[in-house]
Amino acid sequence: MVESFIITIDGLASSGKSTIAKMLASKLNFYLLESGSLYRLVTYWFLNYFKNQENPLEEIEKLFKEVKIDLTSKGTLIYWKNRFLKEELRSKEVEEWVSKISSLKEVRNFLTSYMRELTWDKNLVAEGRDMGSVVFPWARFKIFLTAKEEIRARRRHGELTLKEKRSYEEILKNLKERDELDSTREVSPLVIPEGAYLIDTSYLSPEEVLEKILRLIKNYEE
Ligand code: C5P
Repeated sequence: MVESFIITIDGLASSGKSTIAKMLASKLNFYLLESGSLYRLVTYWFLNYFKNQENPLEEIEKLFKEVKIDLTSKGTLIYWKNRFLKEELRSKEVEEWVSKISSLKEVRNFLTSYMRELTWDKNLVAEGRDMGSVVFPWARFKIFLTAKEEIRARRRHGELTLKEKRSYEEILKNLKERDELDSTREVSPLVIPEGAYLIDTSYLSPEEVLEKILRLIKNYEE
């Protein structure tokens, strides 16, 4: 069995997960699994190309035969028919549906196995909602990020490009809905994984959060 070093970063929407996970993976030169992108990809596919309502699993398998997922230390890059998908996965429509699609048992089971297979021998920073609790419960180090609701909405508002822009109020409403759905769904709800370090990022800069995590890892290793 290959001994890989897995660090999981879970947390609420826009709690800083993605920025911190990117910085950490790049600092440690680990692969970066952005699991939300895969849930967004399935949602994008369901919204645009879903034909077989009866059998979602068949549709997902078809999709994953056609896409290429490139796992790097900078992020999880997704190509479909030689096209790099990015903005499509962050559209308003995808954001409205992603938590609903993510609550489907077939989707979660498929992606859980897929992500384990994709990363099995790799040193990894895995970022998402159930990385430490369900997908990689054996991870060596687990982090859970939170931040105040208004601060998270403001951050998300600032992140969106002009093309993707939505009002602050609209974003706040979407964040609340996603938090609620993600935390109350039956299959792998968003929880603080056992043994995870909880960090409130409301008043910390990304550099300060990274510093905190690196210090925790160092203490843990000693
Ligand atoms: O992290 P990101 O905002 O890209 O995630 C989008 C959505 O995907 C989340 O709101 C959640 O509904 C879903 N998701 C999930 N499990 C994960 C990662 C994301 O259900 N591990």
